[in-house]
Amino acid sequence: MPTEHFDVVVMGAGLSGIGAAYRLQTRCPGKRYMILEARPEIGGTWDLFRYPGVRSDSDMFTLGYPFRPWKDAKAIADGPAILQYVRDTAREFGIDRHIRFQQRVLSAAWSSEDARWLLEVQTGATGETVRYTCDFLYGCTGYYRYDAGYEPDFPGAANFRGRFVHPQHWPENLDYAGKRVVVIGSGATAVTLVPAMAETAAHVTMLQRSPSYILSVPAHDHIADRLRRWLPEGAAHRLLRWKNILISLGIYQISRRAPDFARRVLQQGAAKSLPDGYQVDPHFTPKYQPWDQRLCLVPDSDLFRAIRAGSASVVTGQVESFTEHGIRLESGEELEADIIVSATGLQMLALGGVRLAVDAAPIEPGHTFIYKGLMLGNVPNFAFCVGYTNASWTLRADLSSQFVCRLLNHMDRHGYRICRPACNSAALEPRPLLDLTSGYVLRATENLPKQAAEKPWRIRQNYILDMLSMRLGRLKDGVLKFETTAPAPQAELPESVPAA
Ligand SMILES: Cc1cc2nc3c(=O)[nH]c(=O)nc-3n(C[C@H](O)[C@H](O)[C@H](O)COP(=O)(O)OP(=O)(O)OC[C@H]3O[C@@H](n4cnc5c(N)ncnc54)[C@H](O)[C@@H]3O)c2cc1C
Repeated sequence: MPTEHFDVVVMGAGLSGIGAAYRLQTRCPGKRYMILEARPEIGGTWDLFRYPGVRSDSDMFTLGYPFRPWKDAKAIADGPAILQYVRDTAREFGIDRHIRFQQRVLSAAWSSEDARWLLEVQTGATGETVRYTCDFLYGCTGYYRYDAGYEPDFPGAANFRGRFVHPQHWPENLDYAGKRVVVIGSGATAVTLVPAMAETAAHVTMLQRSPSYILSVPAHDHIADRLRRWLPEGAAHRLLRWKNILISLGIYQISRRAPDFARRVLQQGAAKSLPDGYQVDPHFTPKYQPWDQRLCLVPDSDLFRAIRAGSASVVTGQVESFTEHGIRLESGEELEADIIVSATGLQMLALGGVRLAVDAAPIEPGHTFIYKGLMLGNVPNFAFCVGYTNASWTLRADLSSQFVCRLLNHMDRHGYRICRPACNSAALEPRPLLDLTSGYVLRATENLPKQAAEKPWRIRQNYILDMLSMRLGRLKDGVLKFETTAPAPQAELPESVPAA
């Protein structure tokens, strides 16, 4: 079967893949690259999710690209506006000409003899398999399964006579006007859906097993308005980006170093926004410390306003079973519903489900260590992109792409064909990739690459430290090994590590 060769293949045309392509074009202009995208459209997350009110909960000055200013009035943006921004970026920089759609990478096999990857790719609706080869493979595949969200087994689910939906597969014409809705969940998706549906539904109940910390932020950044009037577009964008980077770093550091103080401030904020006498405990009193799980941001108190208006309410309790007309809780309380939305989360997926092998030895992502948060120990010419959990995804994704470009240029300058982080797994203590206690993270920990306590195997979730290390840190750090010619096959294979 004939194969087409590229210098770099990027997997995924979401926010990260488009950003990666921009960096490749501008920093490594001599490289021939291609983006392989499983879906028929650009945009990833922002094209897939279509539920009412879908929006970012990060500000767009940091979730957007540093190289393309966010110009909208709203800093917390709606899903369609983000999708348009990603598409426009791809078109403006001619990146769209480098995308092949409906090409799902199934497997990638590294050959040390050839110093290249061989990709098996399923194409289009026919499911035909094609092959590509590339010198460097960059995974921008996001972090969750696209085909299915997480749905717990609700007892008696088949009894329910109304509509049951998951936000990941929102029915296009679902009419909820005047209907009684129960949204199960308390994460970012639930707090987005509840006020959006409450605008026209008869009533929306947010049914949560346990509450989250919720912080109201202005949807519209008035400092942005002023700076945009005074400064050129690019300069205003850079200043706003840094303002928001420092604010989110500050909130995170205070939460981790003074959790009791942060907890009090968050709870007082919720209490002030709720109607007098509303039960902050239990409904807005999480059992964990701030930032053990992601903080939920709501723009302009929209969730609290819906509660004050009486169009939404919160119930804290365990589902005993679904009934014909709704949900019975373990407390005995019954919630009647015409529509139940299961905002119960995502299923994380490592590396877009691509099966990796090095010289015919399969790589188990869960048995590898991650170098600087983007390469896998002992896996050559491969990087992947994971965003921050405590700040905007793009901040880290863009640093990863800049690092990949530095690495490629360094290899070209010195005539290196192979680069891999040498990892002695036995000497490292595995720790979970993400330091969150959220259900979706805990369910996936075993299958995700591991970090360790020491540099460069540690993920710091700190943009400023990462920026220094990724942009200025030495590439010849004693861990990254470079070779001009291919070593004998099977020379260094990843060792297995026990699950964290
Ligand atoms: C509802 C929702 C809201 C969010 N809000 C925020 C927010 O406010 N702030 C924030 O920082 N983060 C947020 N996130 C996280 C969000 O996913 C990231 O911000 C960002 O969109 C990730 O971009 P990505 O390109 O890395 O991944 P994705 O958007 O997931 O895109 C990955 C792309 O890779 C493709 N792909 C996957 N596997 C393969 C394969 N094997 N072969 C070929 N192509 C493949 C997919 O089809 C997809 O197009 C949110 C996530 C969700 C689900």
